[in-house]
Amino acid sequence: MQTIKYTFIGPIRQAVTMARLPLKGALKDEQLHVVQEAGILIKNEEIYEIGPYWDLYPEAQSIGAEMVNLKGDFVALPGLIDCHTHICFGGSRAKDYAMRNAGISYLEIAKAGGGIWDTVTQTRKASLEKLAQLTVNRSNRHLKDGITTIEVKSGYGLSVEEELKMLRAIKLANENTSADLITSCLAAHIPPKDFQGTQKDYLKKISEEVFPILQEEDLANRIDAFIEETAFTSEDIQSYFQKAKEMGFDITVHADQFRTGGSKVAVDFAAISADHLEASSEKEIQLLAESNTIAVALPGASMGLGVAYTPARKLLDAGASLAIASDWNPGSAPMGDLLTQASILGTFEKLTNAEVLAGITFRAAAALNLADRGQLKHGYIADLIFFPTDDYREITYQQGRLKPSIIYKNGIEIK
Ligand SMILES: [Zn+2]
Repeated sequence: MQTIKYTFIGPIRQAVTMARLPLKGALKDEQLHVVQEAGILIKNEEIYEIGPYWDLYPEAQSIGAEMVNLKGDFVALPGLIDCHTHICFGGSRAKDYAMRNAGISYLEIAKAGGGIWDTVTQTRKASLEKLAQLTVNRSNRHLKDGITTIEVKSGYGLSVEEELKMLRAIKLANENTSADLITSCLAAHIPPKDFQGTQKDYLKKISEEVFPILQEEDLANRIDAFIEETAFTSEDIQSYFQKAKEMGFDITVHADQFRTGGSKVAVDFAAISADHLEASSEKEIQLLAESNTIAVALPGASMGLGVAYTPARKLLDAGASLAIASDWNPGSAPMGDLLTQASILGTFEKLTNAEVLAGITFRAAAALNLADRGQLKHGYIADLIFFPTDDYREITYQQGRLKPSIIYKNGIEIK
């Protein structure tokens, strides 16, 4: 029998629970559920109770909880969730970045053989163990920033063997970091240059040879594809996604980054999320708003490429759900600082604190189809972060400079 361990943390100036908020649409800061002078009682790995500190104190003492007495000002939030990253990769693309800033476009670099293919070459050269280690290092950096759940994509292997190497590396990394890594298969990132055959032939091979192994080895339950002129067209992807759906995978899409089309595919296939959307027009915004697909803004990619942000304000006003992710990758989004990026998106798109924080907590959880995290409430995983301040508004105000100084993952403090 497992012994039950209780931990009681507080007093907390403000616990912003992110509970009691709708999954879709605009949010006002007044809607935030903020418990003043709060206490959080943890039972093993889960949140047991949250409420006013002195109300919970007698109960916590009577059940023999370990009392964690916070000294100073703290604001508690659920552990942050980054629902879109590519942090399993080899090499660096500092050269691409310099070229882009010298005036050469992303599409031109890709067509000239640079871009993603450069990372594919570097990633193929790295061993499984090396890739796992690089992924652990980046995950731990994210965890220190308060990001307790991180989605990680493959997509720099682009052959049956090399994609599987990446996916196994991410699985190994997950066993060696305290953060939770959620894996997506992005074998449909770009068409591999060294494949003999059409885009459709490649996708058919992946679906026949990789999909079954994903399930056998429990490597991933999410299938992602980049729908774009230089990657895969809406037409290319139909039978690939059909097969994925039939096998029970969740679908997610890199959509409308440079041209529209991807979000329509996402909605047609009832994808969990449609990510990017920088090029989305009113039509796509309406389509997403009427669907259950979560729109994911990737401000780090806009900053990395120097292009417009996802129309986050319009999406929310139309009634869509909006998550915000870092897209951390070696090409278009090398910064990898989710809180900074989300805060800055807020200033450009005029998002409330509630909308920014929702985008990196419970709405990001929904973008990963996870119903056990992203809010501070009974029964949820005890992933908690504490910012050294007495006012939650300081978090976006300081635009990422204010980081959490105390982090709990599954009820255990990460030192
Ligand atoms: Zn991406």
